[in-house]
Amino acid sequence: MTGNPLGFVNAYLLREPDGYALIDCGWDVPDVLAALEAGLARCGVQLEEIRDVIVTHFHPDHYGLAGRLVRTVGARLMMHPIDWRVAEGRLSDFAATVRENAIWFARNGYEAGDDGSIADEPARYSVVAPQRMLNDGDELPLAVGSLRVIWTPGHSPGHICLLDTANNVLFSGDHVLDPITPHVGTWSGQDAQDQLGAFLASLRKVRACGAAVVAPAHGRPFKDVMQRVDELLAHHDERESLVLEALGSGPASAGAIAARLPWTRRHRTFAELGDRHQAFAVAETIAHLEHLRARDVVRRDAHDGVLVYELGSE
Ligand SMILES: [Zn+2]
Ligand SMILES: [Zn+2]
Repeated sequence: MTGNPLGFVNAYLLREPDGYALIDCGWDVPDVLAALEAGLARCGVQLEEIRDVIVTHFHPDHYGLAGRLVRTVGARLMMHPIDWRVAEGRLSDFAATVRENAIWFARNGYEAGDDGSIADEPARYSVVAPQRMLNDGDELPLAVGSLRVIWTPGHSPGHICLLDTANNVLFSGDHVLDPITPHVGTWSGQDAQDQLGAFLASLRKVRACGAAVVAPAHGRPFKDVMQRVDELLAHHDERESLVLEALGSGPASAGAIAARLPWTRRHRTFAELGDRHQAFAVAETIAHLEHLRARDVVRRDAHDGVLVYELGSE
């Protein structure tokens, strides 16, 4: 995907009793469609043989092309009902979503900049309703065995992983990635939920699934789901300690706390990040603060319209 910071998304082809299913499909742009067709051709499969498009979550790098596949080859789209509601609400009027996020960030002490990277986003997807909603525990028949739906809220509220029960392969979407740390952030309209708490519970949920291979949406497949889950849990423990340490110097907004933390694997300062990455960093900081607040470790008050966090229960 030209222009995507992660470079590419993995789409997985599975044989169904009658045709094929595709898990995730990339942006709706010509180079992605061409890459998908070329990949299918290498498998001796034509686009028209795709009967089901299953998306792990609503992010346009996973869901974007689904509308085109529904319209042009008559594929059925399947996703979790919560992410369909989010897609309908946030992707249908993208400009409004950007405005709401800017207001949300201002309330959190961060003035969102615009490096122009989000202007292209609406051209990369179309909003189309799923023909079938997938819920936790649903089983979809494959040519051999079945595909079990595991609801894993956190990276997005309606994120799902899919377990190929015959081959013991977990299609993990953006829930478990390696070496990337999946983004878990609190964006506008989401602070009533503890996203990070949900994400950590979802990590423990897939840790127990016993998959022999994890097939992620970004990066190469890897073997040890338990080890990777443990690394991600440890990473969030470490980040939480840093957030608490930053709060030790006194009450502050999420934006001010984000500015005190190291970012990325190379430990860059907040000021060194581009606008888009800064927004992600603040959203991740809010997720940590809200997870602490859900456990009564920190409290939150509004001061002159800005949300300020401090140590201590409410
Ligand atoms: Zn995603
Ligand atoms: Zn992704």
